[in-house]
Formats: sequence, structure tokens, C-alpha cells
Amino acid sequence: MAPGCSVWFEPPGSWGLSNSGVVKIGDEVLVVDTQNDVTRAAALRAAALGVAGTDSVTTVVNTHDDGDHWFGNMFFDDCRIVATAAAADGMRALRMDPRRLSELGSDGSALQGWSRWRAETFSYEDWRPVFPTETFDDALTVKLGGGTVELIGVGPAHTGGDALVHVPEAGVVFTGDIVFHRSTPIVWAGPVSNTIAACDAVLALEPSVIVPGHGPVADPAGVREVRTYLARLLEHTLGCLERGAGPEQAYRTFDAAEYRLWAHASRAYLTILSVYAEHRPDLALPTWAESMEVVLADDAS
Ligand SMILES: [Zn+2]
Repeated sequence: MAPGCSVWFEPPGSWGLSNSGVVKIGDEVLVVDTQNDVTRAAALRAAALGVAGTDSVTTVVNTHDDGDHWFGNMFFDDCRIVATAAAADGMRALRMDPRRLSELGSDGSALQGWSRWRAETFSYEDWRPVFPTETFDDALTVKLGGGTVELIGVGPAHTGGDALVHVPEAGVVFTGDIVFHRSTPIVWAGPVSNTIAACDAVLALEPSVIVPGHGPVADPAGVREVRTYLARLLEHTLGCLERGAGPEQAYRTFDAAEYRLWAHASRAYLTILSVYAEHRPDLALPTWAESMEVVLADDAS
């Protein structure tokens, strides 16, 4: 897609179907995010070596701690593996063990249906977690084959520790889940304002190619759409907070305007909850499973 840069696109980019990147400078290879399961990760490694024409990968970057971006690390356990310190902590906590995915949700729930779909879609046979070997907080320059790749910490935003991967020579930014392209973004951790600032950080790099965490390769216009959506959601939710409305009411009354046709529109509930968590830490908000039940029950796409 750009000199030395390739993308592993996992269509259609819905739940757990994330993108990876391969960057080759000189004779060294860096992989961005390692896919969600053993089948995809093994294929990613083979594809990375094939496209780069080398027999080893030097460096892996995990953009954040969601499993779909690092569960495949076991196929890169001979590499330097880099993530933000907050992301590495999140990985070690292993909040959702992929081997136990199918146990989620009570009988007949939407969450149970989703868990079964995930268990059928992803394979974790002989899976083991492999964690980053090196961490950073704000920024790190990775030397690669005589060139450089810049890592920029922008979290907490989508998760507790998100990073952008910038390849200046190629004009490419891999955004992790700061950007979802043509599907509704999720801000798990927040603040949403940090995620908006992270979109601005992507745009400030003036890239010509942007690889989102999910969905097809984008250009700056795609990032501006996510930014506009998030700003709209934030403004609406702050208004609801001011009026004393609860998060479910904020969700039911949110009008995403032209973005309501994006897949998984009901994910707005998760991002709205992060705004409530930020501004009303005194409230007892729904658990992860409770909030996912609302999102999945409404998820027609
Ligand atoms: Zn993701």
C-alpha cells in the first residue's frame, strides 16, 4: 500500500477481526499487531515473511491490549515485542482468557450468542500468552534496517494504553483502535476527549495512508469522520449528564446523523458509558457483561 508497508486486512473488520501491518526497511521487518487467534497469527507470520522476502521478523508492536491485537504474539516469540507500559500491564492481567470465551453470557442471552460465534470463528488450540519484552510511555523511536519507525503513546483513550505507529518515510500511520473505518468506534477506557486528541495526533502527522485497527485502509478524511462522530457523541452525552439523564437514556436519544449507517451503531452505548464513568465516578454503572448485552441485543449488523 506504500513503499515497504503492507496491510493484513481482516474483513469486514467487525468484532475481533482486526488489521495488522508489515513494515520492511532495509532487510529488517516490523509487524504491527499479531491477530486474534492461532490460525490467523500463523498465517500472518508466513505472509509477513513472504511479502518481505526474509526469514525472520525483527520487531513486533502491539498497539494496545485488546486480545485481537496481541493474542497472536506466540508466533513472534523470537522477536523484540514493544507496547506501552499500560498496555503491557493490561495484557498481563488477561481480563478475558480467550480459551474461556465460549463460557460468557447466561442461557439465551445475546452475549452467549456472540460468545459462541467467537468460539466458532477463532481458534485457541495450544494458545499461550506472550507478553511485550519492552515498554514505553510517551514515545519511542524504533531503529529498523537503517530507517526509523516512531511509536507515539496516545492513551488512555480506546484502552488504558494506546499507541500509534508512524512510518515517516512511507507516510503511513497504523492507528490501532483509535480509528475504526466505516464501522462504529468504541472507546472503552476514555476519556473520549483523549481519543479525539489522538485523532488529531494522527492528522498532524499528515500521513497519506492510514491503517485503522478495523476496517479498510483509510485516508485523513476517514479519521476526520471518526473525530466528528466522537465529538458529536461527547457533546450529546455531556448534555445528558447536565440534565441528569442516565446512560441508557443518553444512548436511546443519541442521533449519530450520517454515521448511524455504520455497522454496529449500538456500540455508541459503550462509548457513552465511558463518558459517564469519567464524569460521574460515583454512579454504579453497568458491568462489561451487562453493557455488552445491551449492545449485542441491538446489534443488527
Ligand atoms: Zn481491535
